[in-house]
Amino acid sequence: MPGMPAAPSLARRSADPAGRPSGSPGDGIAILGAGLAGLSLAVRLVEAGVRAPITLLEPRTGYGDDRTWGFWETEPHPFAHLVAERWPAWRVRTPAAAHIRRGSVPYVRLPAAAVYRDALARLDRAGNVVRRMGVRVTGVAGAQVALDTGERLHAGVIYDGRPPEATQIASGHGRGPRLLQQFVGRRVRTGRPAFEPGVADLMDFRVSQRHGIAFLYVLPSGPCEALVEATVFAGQPVGAEVLDRLLAEGLAARCRAADTQVTEVLGTERGAIPMVPGLGRTPARAGGTIAIGTRAGAPRGATGYAYLPIQRHVAVLAADAAAGRPRGRGMRGAGTDWLDQVFLRRLLRAPDAGPALLARLFDRVPADRLVRFLMERGGVRDHLAVMSALPTLPLLREALAASAPHRSRLRPARTAAAGETAPNP
Ligand SMILES: Cc1cc2nc3c(=O)[nH]c(=O)nc-3n(C[C@H](O)[C@H](O)[C@H](O)COP(=O)(O)OP(=O)(O)OC[C@H]3O[C@@H](n4cnc5c(N)ncnc54)[C@H](O)[C@@H]3O)c2cc1C
Repeated sequence: MPGMPAAPSLARRSADPAGRPSGSPGDGIAILGAGLAGLSLAVRLVEAGVRAPITLLEPRTGYGDDRTWGFWETEPHPFAHLVAERWPAWRVRTPAAAHIRRGSVPYVRLPAAAVYRDALARLDRAGNVVRRMGVRVTGVAGAQVALDTGERLHAGVIYDGRPPEATQIASGHGRGPRLLQQFVGRRVRTGRPAFEPGVADLMDFRVSQRHGIAFLYVLPSGPCEALVEATVFAGQPVGAEVLDRLLAEGLAARCRAADTQVTEVLGTERGAIPMVPGLGRTPARAGGTIAIGTRAGAPRGATGYAYLPIQRHVAVLAADAAAGRPRGRGMRGAGTDWLDQVFLRRLLRAPDAGPALLARLFDRVPADRLVRFLMERGGVRDHLAVMSALPTLPLLREALAASAPHRSRLRPARTAAAGETAPNP
């Protein structure tokens, strides 16, 4: 936006007694997008003692219970008191086998509505946080943020938590592999017990594998209540109707086995998470902004887990800001992205072998080691345990391909059936 007129500042520069140069939190902080990353960062900034004005810019006018965060609770996090359920055991199923595992760290379910409510209450108490709801950021140039209201704001520091552009996902980092984790989930009640409380079904591959690597994800709250999601890992959007059909079939099979039916749908969630190793590796402070959340590459390439990476990332960013040195930070090390590239290349090259490959990990790697690896808390021995559980030769081939200087982009081995390629919501 060259040639923009002077924009109102979020803070009066002269108000900063430390006399910090432009680009410091003292000039006011703008956070674009008040989703998980934006809200979490604002909470952390306040807790870290940042007193500069913080303005959140968000197109939503209100928050619903639009998603559920599931992850292994390997560490403290700011919303731990809101965890709705904890499962000490989890299971992966293929048509051939079921692997139940228990570890010292539970798998948890964190409902988005509770997190949004809690974060907003903390921010409203802070005194230096302004929430501008119902406004959309249309552009950023240097220190200026343009809104769809026609306003232009000036901020010393701009954190960008808007979803990544389609082009960012398409180009990712270099020419590496990429998948889309697409899902639809329903919280349902059944007339009679159909679920096994205490066991989270992370991947039940006993569903059609026609459109990609597909599975049901079942988080039971009790014998008659669960969040049931149909998920597909595919190289392209498979379409909402494919996901809806997978979910309906999976739910029907569960109910048939328990001689019952769904009596109530309590909620629905849909999503498409990019599985793109190195997604945020383009300069973390591009165009004068500091990327956060998905835009910064939070979802891990091989898994899509993003909740804990976001919490770790914003904690570091907030500490930088509190120390008067705001700056962009990478989401994770290059080694993890490289490993994920190798794994995704294998999945893309042989999707039919995907369920067996994933089940093999849960079968052969000791539970705590695998959890630390998946949650990016693994040490060398955890990584070695994971690698030795996987078929060596095919992975070696992908490792060589991933390391080649002019590596080719893998195309998905399977494409969605005609008429089923509507973009995912
Ligand atoms: C349904 C769903 C379920 C998920 N489940 C899990 C899970 O179980 N475990 C896990 O680890 N991860 C999960 N994820 C992945 C990830 O944790 C979430 O997507 C998380 O919300 C990402 O946080 P974010 O702040 O990057 O994005 P969001 O929370 O989506 O926030 C982005 C914000 O930007 C706003 N915005 C959009 N356009 C503009 C604009 N032009 N100007 C200003 N603001 C804008 C949006 O309204 C939104 O509030 C899930 C994702 C989805 C979609």
